[in-house]
Amino acid sequence: MISKKGKVFLVGVGPGDPNLATLRTREIILQCDVLVYDHLINPEFRRWASAECEQIDVGRSPCRRTVAQDDIGKILVSKASDKQIVVRLKSGDPFVFGRCAEEISVLDDAGIDYEIIPGVTAALACAAYAGIPLSHGDNGSSISFLTGHEDVTNESLRIDFAKFADTGGTLCIYMGMSKIEEIVTSLLRGGMPQDKPAAIVSNGTLPIQRHLRCNLGDIVQMSQSSDLKSPAIIFVGNAVGLSFRKSWFEDRPLYGRRIVVTRSTSQNSKMKSKLEELGAKVLELPLIEILPTEDRTLVAEVFTGIATYEWVVFTSANGAREFMRLFFLAYEDIRSFGPMRIACVGEATAAIFRAYNLEVELIPKVSTAENLAQELVATDSLDSANILVITGNRNREVLVSMLETVGHAIVDVLPLYDTDFCDISKAEDLEDFRNKGADAIIFTSSSTALSYIEQEDDLILKKTAQTPVFFSFGPETSKTLKENNLAVAAESDQPSMDSIIKALISRFRK
Ligand code: SAH
Repeated sequence: MISKKGKVFLVGVGPGDPNLATLRTREIILQCDVLVYDHLINPEFRRWASAECEQIDVGRSPCRRTVAQDDIGKILVSKASDKQIVVRLKSGDPFVFGRCAEEISVLDDAGIDYEIIPGVTAALACAAYAGIPLSHGDNGSSISFLTGHEDVTNESLRIDFAKFADTGGTLCIYMGMSKIEEIVTSLLRGGMPQDKPAAIVSNGTLPIQRHLRCNLGDIVQMSQSSDLKSPAIIFVGNAVGLSFRKSWFEDRPLYGRRIVVTRSTSQNSKMKSKLEELGAKVLELPLIEILPTEDRTLVAEVFTGIATYEWVVFTSANGAREFMRLFFLAYEDIRSFGPMRIACVGEATAAIFRAYNLEVELIPKVSTAENLAQELVATDSLDSANILVITGNRNREVLVSMLETVGHAIVDVLPLYDTDFCDISKAEDLEDFRNKGADAIIFTSSSTALSYIEQEDDLILKKTAQTPVFFSFGPETSKTLKENNLAVAAESDQPSMDSIIKALISRFRK
């Protein structure tokens, strides 16, 4: 824990990918009272902060300053004097063209404690993510970090690039895009050959990273025709010319795809990180929320009579997880589960029981509650049998009535969770979705589809935005979408993360 004296942490978070932040950075953001950030900072870092944390946008960018440097210093001093833990987020490393020294002077003058947390500077991260070596054997005995100073107020600080023409090493030029022509002319004037290998990496480490490799002589024209945007780093040097067969980052199967996930945030984390690992940009638009609802008397009754059931039926992984949680509150030993046979919709639900070495005897080929009921009836084991159905508050009527009327079973229903629609207007990624659209939306259940349909007015895209296609977790979800005139681009074989990811890859792999 940090002492509550008031302190400023000048924190480098790397150029974009949150995975590049240090453990210390994460620890400090989780604990801070005030977060001061500007435009190059990935919004993901702000989500690490607590709900009570005050977040201040000082919006500094190379050509626009909403808050003057002096005022940033004042904010840091005033918040820390108030005994607050203040985090000043800096892109890359705070000491590399980060104006950190100016802020430290202000803190020093005011007698405020501070700590500097280094970060991965853009040149190193961009080189790694684009597969551009900065040194190699004989190629590159030095690596220089230079700045093209797009910042007009710093015109006087500009460097004479011609002097770097024969350093023999690799040049990494920050903030150089708007002056690229001037920079290249200087390097050529200084004696650098036209065929010196060069590269540009724009938006490095993010799912929108793009890079270009060429010779110094062609770089101006090629950067214009490929429309590479800031933030970008320009690399020049012999080592930069070494290329590899594959780009580990940009050749991932879902690279650059914008995928919308619609489950509640807590349920999404695994899917989100898996999609991100495959290169996708994940937008979270939670359309439903799963809330445990426990009727204690009913739960107690069911567990007391647990040995009397012949089948227990689970329609979702949520119900299964919640059931096992309650089971272990009631009993310590798995043997108390008794002889009841287990039927589940979907492999993901079945996996929850297999983890306890409990056999799952029935998983319908088609993952719907209706198919589950049909296949159960077909086992000829339902007549007068006691059956326990674990569900949520939606879509259970067909299942129960088929088991009772066709199978002649005696059914007890134990609802363990409610599925509520979330208010989409509160989703943090909504604006990004409406502005830019997406490649795909994943609907994980009929309820996510119904919630989408109910809130369609809030989800209208800008004219220039990309229209997403719809992926469905299974037949029931597809049916709901189709009944509402929404086309289904693909349906996963199983209602599981792995199956939907397989479907996404087969649709989007380039
Ligand atoms: N302190 C930062 C640099 C800030 S100056 C660091 O250590 O990385 C801002 C410049 O950094 C941009 O103009 C660009 O040249 C570079 N930069 C920052 N993020 C970048 C990114 N994601 N991709 C490419 N260049 C980036």
